[in-house]
Amino acid sequence: MAVTIPGPDPGDLITGIMLQIAQHAERLALLDQHVADLTARLTALIGARNSDRDEGYRPVPAPQWWKLGEPEREEALARLRAWVDQIYRPSYGHLAAALGPCWEQHPLCLFGLDWLMELWSVLYLTPERQPHALASQAEWQTRLLPALAEQLYLETTRCQHAQRTQDRRLSHSADPRDGGNPAHRRL
Ligand SMILES: [Zn+2]
Repeated sequence: MAVTIPGPDPGDLITGIMLQIAQHAERLALLDQHVADLTARLTALIGARNSDRDEGYRPVPAPQWWKLGEPEREEALARLRAWVDQIYRPSYGHLAAALGPCWEQHPLCLFGLDWLMELWSVLYLTPERQPHALASQAEWQTRLLPALAEQLYLETTRCQHAQRTQDRRLSHSADPRDGGNPAHRRL
């Protein structure tokens, strides 16, 4: 005896397919949204990383001045020299002027200027300024900088280099060609 299995109702079939299409469309829309969110997050991350690379503070290990070989010492000095020439001297007036020209030959100056420069970089090369950073900037300039500037001044004015410069000036002012003008003897 033949059994007739009823075929699916074409109407139900179409309804089922339409339902599946609707579900797929919904999933695709969710995936689209997900991809868009991920792209936005990735773009923000890359932007932040590039901005850090361009402007942000990049910590470096403290130079071990007492044992650096010549190339490493020159590299560390070049970094410090660039900061002194481009930031420190042009920006900090009479305090920076207290730094003698022979500072590179004084370990005290190297250690001091190194942390002064690193702290400055932390405080001024950061894209955002929070209240605590503002307070630190004030402390850097009103307390730390003057205290160190005094040390740098003493170190570079009571040294053999300063003494030699003074001797040269004295011998120059004693030169009979300038007529022995006492004004020239003033240091
Ligand atoms: Zn000196």
